[in-house]
Amino acid sequence: MLRYFLLLFVLAIYSPAFAQEIIIGQEYPKSDFRPPLDLPPVISGSFGELRAGHFHSGMDYKTNQREGYPVYAVADGYISRLRVQGVGFGNAIYITHPNGFTTVYGHLQRFNDHIAQTIKNYQYRIESFEVDFPLIPIEIPVKKGEIIAWSGNSGSSGGPHLHFEIRDSQTEETINPQLFGLTVPDRVKPIINGMYVYHLNGLPFSEKTPKQYFPVTGSAGVYKLNQSQVINLNGEVGFGIMTFDKNSASENPVGVYSIELFIDGKSIYTSVWERFFFHHSRSINSHLDYPAYISSRVRIQKSFVEPGNFLTLYKDGLASGLVNITDNLVHDVNYVVKDVAGNTSNLSFRIKGNSQAEILPAKAPASMTTFFFDKENRFETPEFKLLAPKGSFYSNLNFSYQISAKPPGAFSKMHHVHNRLIPVNDALTIWIRADSTLKPELRDKAVLVNSRGGSPGGTYEDGFIKATTRDFGNYYVKTDTIPPRITPVNITDGKILTGTSRISFKISDNLSGLGSYRATIDGRWILMEYDAKRALLWHTFDENTTGGVHQLQLVISDMKSNISTFNARFIR
Ligand SMILES: [Zn+2]
Repeated sequence: MLRYFLLLFVLAIYSPAFAQEIIIGQEYPKSDFRPPLDLPPVISGSFGELRAGHFHSGMDYKTNQREGYPVYAVADGYISRLRVQGVGFGNAIYITHPNGFTTVYGHLQRFNDHIAQTIKNYQYRIESFEVDFPLIPIEIPVKKGEIIAWSGNSGSSGGPHLHFEIRDSQTEETINPQLFGLTVPDRVKPIINGMYVYHLNGLPFSEKTPKQYFPVTGSAGVYKLNQSQVINLNGEVGFGIMTFDKNSASENPVGVYSIELFIDGKSIYTSVWERFFFHHSRSINSHLDYPAYISSRVRIQKSFVEPGNFLTLYKDGLASGLVNITDNLVHDVNYVVKDVAGNTSNLSFRIKGNSQAEILPAKAPASMTTFFFDKENRFETPEFKLLAPKGSFYSNLNFSYQISAKPPGAFSKMHHVHNRLIPVNDALTIWIRADSTLKPELRDKAVLVNSRGGSPGGTYEDGFIKATTRDFGNYYVKTDTIPPRITPVNITDGKILTGTSRISFKISDNLSGLGSYRATIDGRWILMEYDAKRALLWHTFDENTTGGVHQLQLVISDMKSNISTFNARFIR
């Protein structure tokens, strides 16, 4: 009896017949939360939207290209975490509510007085601009509708907006805020603009998997392939789709809510952006055709799941999405794509099993050794070592490795570590042997460098330079002996700064990256705020800098302990 009930329940939530219904695993309170802004809800980013290396974890509310709109607590609760960063969410507030959910507000311009003072006290206590600390319920309780902050553009933000999230307080999964009644006007159906067939034929997905592109035509929810013929298939295939959504309130392309794939009415694949775990978000690199994304920046969403992809977007009880048509009959394939408002688009086409059809030859890439997605993998030569922990890959792969001539200025040969078209989920550790031109006194300045730019850092270990990286690619050894650059914006030695409210600097590093910075006035630590996207560091004078002559010192180091110092006397 219980089994029957479960089956009916599953059929009800997964059936395509309810066109305006969306797939949802559980109900969420619809009226607990008010909107975080008093602006009409217009979004530039949706929950689950496809971003570089992650799914967008919340909603981005547009703020008329301006900063400074009041941000409200969406319900009663208490501030449970405060975080300030020069990257990421910048100035961010977390509120835990009694209904079991936590709301997050990011890229804030500034905090209300109580919160600002709490943060500043903490920053001076630990002498760090970047802080991230929990609070207990009695410290800063908030009421629904209370102003907690003003909207901004801090951290890694591409323009003024409010990043807003709702998380499950227990599991920390982030959940689609539109499922809580915080909806956006939307009568626009998702757009479908391409379909792919992947001829896997029993091999793991890779950049060598043969694929066919099928252009799509249509509008207003009805899509078909440009070509009307039946697609002949022979052997095991998977499908992929290019799709995105828009809504009534803005032109910004955003993410869809669900993708379902049916063959003859039977579901073979479903992904739903209801909720996900942050530690799975990087698996977007498996959700997408990553080789296509890296080589041509197109986002094809594969409709088959690789065995090492543990995203919870894919619904239980469904096959992995791979099909092998062994009969000679025509089968109807239907993609159903929905947005969170239930607007639905369909792409329909026909396939036929044809044992006479030429099998697109699935090639396994040439290999030295097989790496397994569910095991720890090691590879070693006299010049190079690699350790990939279990969980590093989404599928098994035929690992390839080559070595070539030493690049100019390098302290090793060039090591071609597989290729950058294959994503890495977890950090790889690689060791590259430095050659004899790396003198002992330079060992602690050595780093690994990726031939496409950037450095994963490095430490000297027994003749090798060791670093962890999340990318395959071409690596070699270089040294960083150049200190970071400090460019003062509005302070010089002896300057009169009466009437100036803040001093600022541009800071940058050439290779290993900025490590730490520390500024003092008359020997006392001062708060320097940092915005990575503008490479800007600044201090706002407060009551501690009284009238008179003062001595400022700013010390910046990079990741290889190269140090720059700026000293100036100034008068207030
Ligand atoms: Zn955002």
